[in-house]
Amino acid sequence: MARRKKIYEGKAKTLYEGPEPGTIVQYFKDDATAFNAEKHDVIEGKGVLNNILSEFFMLGLGQIGVPTHFLKRLNMREQLVRSCEIIPLEIIVRNYAAGSLSKRLGIDEGTQLPRPIVEYCYKDDDLGDPLVTEEHIAAFGWASQQDMDDILSLALRVNDFMSGVMLAVGIRLVDFKIEIGRVYDGDFQRLVIADEISPDSCRLWDIKTGQKLDKDVFRRDLGSLTDAYTEVARRLGVMPNNPPAPGKPQLVN
Ligand code: UDP
Repeated sequence: MARRKKIYEGKAKTLYEGPEPGTIVQYFKDDATAFNAEKHDVIEGKGVLNNILSEFFMLGLGQIGVPTHFLKRLNMREQLVRSCEIIPLEIIVRNYAAGSLSKRLGIDEGTQLPRPIVEYCYKDDDLGDPLVTEEHIAAFGWASQQDMDDILSLALRVNDFMSGVMLAVGIRLVDFKIEIGRVYDGDFQRLVIADEISPDSCRLWDIKTGQKLDKDVFRRDLGSLTDAYTEVARRLGVMPNNPPAPGKPQLVN
């Protein structure tokens, strides 16, 4: 096969030019990084699990009418996505206090928040993705007011969908991060969920035991990351040797 043109290499994924104009191939690597890449390791199988889990969540979102960049999974490590212009924001939605919110506001991890809280960080590794307000976003033109209204509504829909899917398999969605891109259909601009949705970008706790099933296992040295992600995939019925069946999670007692 002809060598594909690499467009971008990130910490956990590499992007290649897709077969058709306007498409991109996302290759999921096994690299795990934390604390702005200060901590790095290669975790065998992580890329395969994230590829399949992200496919599962993106397909499910598509089925409830939330637009995403996902087109199809190509193989165990690659998926075809629509090329889009990424809005330079990390959109974080929180249902329970954890991580940087707990530190910043002195709220114990695991405290249920009175309502979902949406936060925005400016995507810039050199600056450590700083928290920004809608004032910064408007003043620096990173997104318009219409975009911000749409982003908030998309983020809350993703939250409701993900919370429900995870609850059905005995997992609490504590928080997550999404990225949003613009796609152009003729003269019209639409926003779509882009990047990935996986245990790399969510906090997932077992409802009964509180066991962490997300990247905090790596960040905080809590055991095997592959075991944690495999458990999420197993509960959702999307283990790699078992073709994903979106919408058919297995209930746990
Ligand atoms: N997150 C992410 N990428 C980032 C920063 C955060 O995917 O660059 C996710 C993280 O996994 C968690 C949520 O966003 O699910 C909130 O993260 P937080 O702000 O608490 O930061 P952290 O404690 O991870 O530094």
